[in-house]
Amino acid sequence: MAKEKKNSGGGAPNNVIELPKQCPVCKGKAHRAGFCDEHFMWFKEGLVNRKGEKPKDFDKKYQNFMRKQAA
Ligand SMILES: [Zn+2]
Repeated sequence: MAKEKKNSGGGAPNNVIELPKQCPVCKGKAHRAGFCDEHFMWFKEGLVNRKGEKPKDFDKKYQNFMRKQAA
């Protein structure tokens, strides 16, 4: 067969992207897509990005979000 590069042999593949086990916003336990339940909602609503960073217009978005929650 074709020559292959020397393999370090046996280890698990290193290219699996692992989701964080901690919510990046509150450092709580991550349940869904790397967020805790609450901040997964935030993520879905665009209040935080994948890294848990808030957008410039966070305040506005947060108010809209709270309004929606109350409705
Ligand atoms: Zn959280």
